[in-house]
Amino acid sequence: MAATIHTLGELRQARLHARPVKQEIRDNLVRKLKTGEPLFPGIIGYDDTVVPQLVNAILSKHNFILLGLRGQAKSRILRGLVDLLDDQIPVVPGCEIHDDPLAPLCSSCRARIAREGEDMPIAWLPRPARFVEKLATPDVTIADMLGDIDPIKAAQAGLNLSDELTMHYGLLPRANRGIFAINELPDLAGKIQVGLFNILQEGDVQIKGYPVRLKLDVMMVFTANPEDYTARGKIITPLKDRIGSEIRTHYPATRQNALAITKQEAWTDRTTAGGLKIEIPEFVREVVEELAFQARADRKIDKRSGVSQRLPITTLELVVSNAERRALANDESLVVPRVTDLYAALPSITGKFELEYEGELKGAETIARDLIRSSVGNVFSGTFEGQDSRTVVEWFDLGGSLPLSDSTAAVDVVSQTSGVQGLRELASHVGLKPNSPAPVVAAAVDFVLEGLYAQKKIGRSDERGYSAAEASPRRGPRREEPMIDEQFQIPGSKKKYYN
Ligand SMILES: [Zn+2]
Repeated sequence: MAATIHTLGELRQARLHARPVKQEIRDNLVRKLKTGEPLFPGIIGYDDTVVPQLVNAILSKHNFILLGLRGQAKSRILRGLVDLLDDQIPVVPGCEIHDDPLAPLCSSCRARIAREGEDMPIAWLPRPARFVEKLATPDVTIADMLGDIDPIKAAQAGLNLSDELTMHYGLLPRANRGIFAINELPDLAGKIQVGLFNILQEGDVQIKGYPVRLKLDVMMVFTANPEDYTARGKIITPLKDRIGSEIRTHYPATRQNALAITKQEAWTDRTTAGGLKIEIPEFVREVVEELAFQARADRKIDKRSGVSQRLPITTLELVVSNAERRALANDESLVVPRVTDLYAALPSITGKFELEYEGELKGAETIARDLIRSSVGNVFSGTFEGQDSRTVVEWFDLGGSLPLSDSTAAVDVVSQTSGVQGLRELASHVGLKPNSPAPVVAAAVDFVLEGLYAQKKIGRSDERGYSAAEASPRRGPRREEPMIDEQFQIPGSKKKYYN
């Protein structure tokens, strides 16, 4: 249809009357519900919770707010609303507020239509251009949000109060006939909230003492941290009143959902020069995911700010990178991450949570290490439930030790551990085949050793690698304190343990 309509006259003949934006979004949602099209592609784990509430809010033509902690896909949901807009809509070309050629708001468009009549060309605006997003911060001004006027020009022209010729439009007018998303709404200063409310409710607002009239057509959507939003005085009551629905988001309820999100978001599908293949064991993915669950439950970590799903996503990326680095250094063609690679991912972990006072005392790195260890322990217990690890533990109790590190080549891990009775059998429980390549075997063995270490059945130290547990009744040689020269590693030395 759009391809054949180029002028105001043609548009009028086609009887393409624009609908208010909330009606348009509602109509498109209804159509998708009828045909069973996916509503929010890529949003995982919200099918029975958030999505039904969103649908109801849109059917009700509400402005709405998503309340949730960081990393709960709030912004992503709001951006997904773009898919519910028409492919394109007719606009007056060049109009900053995307005026409808059949019902223009601004006086310059009205003047132009009067001048050019039915021959006036029209333009078609694609839907991504109809989504405006702003992160609220305390320094956002009325000029940013609504616009500014030049008072001298306004006075000189003797313009009346409904004239907006001297107006420089802000973000909200530019979102006219579209969606305006404000992230972290409570961070917006009170008087900006008043301005937003006035323009939405009354269609007018005072700017620098001049009344400005703008009957905008906008769907307003917001996000906020629940505690900030409900805190007294953070949101002015009339604005809160105009937000039709409050919808709570949440972190993935199950490890299965969390795994699916991370799988979708993490960049692991890489092609490395030299054609290295990447194979991520399921237990590595599970440990990475468990890390987020553990962190969210840890009382040393601030619950109010939450632990974003970006934690497992970026962690998995670093885990794969560390495995990639090891494979390149050892000239291996198959990249298989190990659970010990999580220690190399500390840079993606420590910045992803805020600490409570007790946590501050321990330090982010110590807490991250504790979280890794307990995550490994948790997944290990689940995977190896009912499996007997006694022969392996005994080997260490009798004085055996394995000086492995995250840079040890897969073949070396396999050969060094081949003498440990029962270890390979235990490791095969994660699905090893007789012909599994060395990096796959190494990762499985590494998982068992880290699992036993997490369960405190064996010990691990910088000097000796894996050895008997300190508290073991028949313990091996006492674990030595690190000597001073251990602190100064020789540059280029391959010795690099994860502790
Ligand atoms: Zn206009």
